[in-house]
Amino acid sequence: MEYTSTRDNNLSVSAAYAIKTGLAPDGGLFVPKSFPRVFGEELLELAQLPYAERAVKILEKFLTDFSEAELSDCAYSAYNKEKFETDEIAPLYKLTNGVYFLELWHGPTCAFKDMALQILPHFLKKSVVKTGETKEVVILVATSGDTGKAALEGFKDVNGTRIIVFYPEKGVSDIQKRQMITQEGNNVDVAAVNGNFDDAQSGVKKIFGDKEYAQILERNNFMLSSANSINWGRLVPQIVYYFSAYCNLLKCEEIQLGEPVNFVVPTGNFGNILAAYYAKEMGLPIGKLICASNENNVLTDFIRTGVYDKNRPFKTTGSPSMDILISSNLERLLYHVTGCDDAQVADWMKKLAETGRYEVSEAVKAKIQELFYGGFCDDDATEKTIAETNREHGYVMDTHTAVAKCVYDQYCEETGDTTKSVIVSTASPFKFSNRVLEAIAGQEALEGLDEFKMLEALAEKADLTIPTPLAGLKSKAVIFSATCEKTEMYEVVSHMLNLL
Ligand SMILES: *Cc1c(COP(=O)(O)O)cnc(C)c1O
Repeated sequence: MEYTSTRDNNLSVSAAYAIKTGLAPDGGLFVPKSFPRVFGEELLELAQLPYAERAVKILEKFLTDFSEAELSDCAYSAYNKEKFETDEIAPLYKLTNGVYFLELWHGPTCAFKDMALQILPHFLKKSVVKTGETKEVVILVATSGDTGKAALEGFKDVNGTRIIVFYPEKGVSDIQKRQMITQEGNNVDVAAVNGNFDDAQSGVKKIFGDKEYAQILERNNFMLSSANSINWGRLVPQIVYYFSAYCNLLKCEEIQLGEPVNFVVPTGNFGNILAAYYAKEMGLPIGKLICASNENNVLTDFIRTGVYDKNRPFKTTGSPSMDILISSNLERLLYHVTGCDDAQVADWMKKLAETGRYEVSEAVKAKIQELFYGGFCDDDATEKTIAETNREHGYVMDTHTAVAKCVYDQYCEETGDTTKSVIVSTASPFKFSNRVLEAIAGQEALEGLDEFKMLEALAEKADLTIPTPLAGLKSKAVIFSATCEKTEMYEVVSHMLNLL
């Protein structure tokens, strides 16, 4: 399987090259040149396999320059009982007849980013070797919370890699900060930046773009790479869990082979739902793809009107991992639904960069509406949904998942569609325990509680066990207490790598 760029069809590279470099040289994203097909019988076979084996079967269709043994090594290193709290890795929870939650948060950081970031380091390490590179890979991350911790857990102790994470001193929650500063591993470094997320991100971007510094790194046998969500190596493992969910439904005889299933996805950067689109194009029987947003509803408007317009106030919401106005992975969808029109995609992306807005043709809009439904809800509706679902079914969701449930309810009301549906659950409720606790027990329940006490209160109210990675945080030693100025980020990197 060869990969090309969304902005230049002449480009042709291997999967290993796409994973190693992350972004195409023209600024476009790497996309597969075709969609491998999966047929009914194969689904029945997949259904009999454990998660890691299912992963190998799907991954080998895309990563054709990797051997089966290599993919098996990657999949078993990522998806095992040591890293995930359940053997199933991505279990389904049945809410009612025909409505299910796909829980993607049983990994080491309790959010769905583990599904990709547990395996990416293994892809990357092998990709570097395959492309003839001998240098050690250094991952630099600027994080507003979830990604940094998931990347740290994924890369820790992976030979041939180092990871350095910068987070804004005042821009992350207490739990998120605690998760990062207690990080263990012999190849990790974490530093707070005195500033906001933009300061941390622009600092990292500056280091990435610095040619002189790249030479210094090269002399010391290091190369920089990124673990952000546009890397093909993060997208491809996400396709797996859509197949896995369908297989689980088959296995429990909730559906018959060939029966369509809708997927509802709480969306930010459009990576997760794009993976569902890929699964559909590969032949998985998927009905509607329901794209759920919070009040940063730029995608809802786009799906409904064909106009993408990020010129609107940025809202800080109770589902912060979806507070995004530029959904980078949408570029890949545009490329596919225009029949690989690289010039058209490049033009839209230029308009987006220059004016913050572009508009697709009626034909493209119609194609997108055939595949997707878009909806959104605000924080009040999100909290109501958490409370209602808990009251009626005894199931407790985090805020991101609740946005999806709320939009799913709107969808059913509006369309009357009764197709069986899977709501993708992207974080443990404990990760956002203040909001969840407030929703199910009222604001009084929060009084006088710190972040750790809130975990305990939520466990008691919801009759759930605190996930081990979060329960253990309080007693973990702080390893990284340093705060640097924006201007000192280079020194942090040089110091960690012992640069000469
Ligand atoms: C990152 C994230 C999302 C958004 O996923 P995208 O792939 O960016 O659309 C949703 N929920 C949670 C909890 C996340 O961490």
